[in-house]
Amino acid sequence: MIKKVREKSIRLLTMEAGGRRVYKNHPVYAQIERELGRQTAGYKGECALDYYLTFLPDDKYFIFHGLRLEDPKNRHFQMDTFLFSLSHGLILESKYISGELEFDEKTSQLIRKVPEGHETMGDPISQVERHKEQLRSWMEKHLGKVVPITGQVVLTNKNAILLNASPSIMKKVTFLTNLPNRMKSINENLPNPILSEKELRKAARMLNQKHAPDQFDFMGYFKLSQKEIITGVICPECSHSPMIRKSANWICLECGCKSKNAHIEALQDYALLCGKSISNKQAKEFLHLSSSSVTFQILQSMNLRHTGTKKGRVYFLD
Ligand SMILES: [Zn+2]
Repeated sequence: MIKKVREKSIRLLTMEAGGRRVYKNHPVYAQIERELGRQTAGYKGECALDYYLTFLPDDKYFIFHGLRLEDPKNRHFQMDTFLFSLSHGLILESKYISGELEFDEKTSQLIRKVPEGHETMGDPISQVERHKEQLRSWMEKHLGKVVPITGQVVLTNKNAILLNASPSIMKKVTFLTNLPNRMKSINENLPNPILSEKELRKAARMLNQKHAPDQFDFMGYFKLSQKEIITGVICPECSHSPMIRKSANWICLECGCKSKNAHIEALQDYALLCGKSISNKQAKEFLHLSSSSVTFQILQSMNLRHTGTKKGRVYFLD
């Protein structure tokens, strides 16, 4: 049973917004595109993994996607997928990487062999080991009870080849297609319930409550200023910008598309790239509106949390 659905990460959403709102000839655009490619591939791998999880008996596991928690030492950790049952927990870290891969146990590195040489990456096995420890201490603190926690690195790209994998690596890494078998054997090795049904439900509620969404400072990361961001409402049909506001509609002058609420995506972009709060003046400029009263109507219609009055009012783009 899915207790936390898979959503695109803040980082991926931000890169998508950045790809729309930074000029293609800007020096950082290529970097944004690369990062967007990496994030998109990761997300694709996670979604591929989700398909295999549908083979699990529905009542056995609570499934959490993208859970991000803070351990008792104030360090955040995010698990691609966490499966929680009465008897154990299982962390799945998906890796969507193609090519010849080798896990180097001595140096804790993942090496990807490419024609030009090789590329070293952080080792997902050590990452899973860290997350297991962090989750264990989290459970101790918040649940007062700890279940055995195992972890698996799941290779989700069909074009991944594993080289020189030792038996100990093969226990910690699996190909996506083998995941149901691997889970079956983990399950058979940990049959004894530690939690009651009620305790598991309570723990699931607690996990969701304590989920701490990620933050990403786009402007700081790419050293951009607000004036380098493309403003205006983007046409949902042809991506032309800006659309113009006419009789309570957004009109695209390029393709003629008409939209009632194309401003919502524009303000989402603003929240991801520029900041989570916006004044009437900022919204008017960003949406290319001609009057403060129209801007007020639009912001008001979105039922946003706000603070302050008149010109000092600030809306929160949660
Ligand atoms: Zn258009």
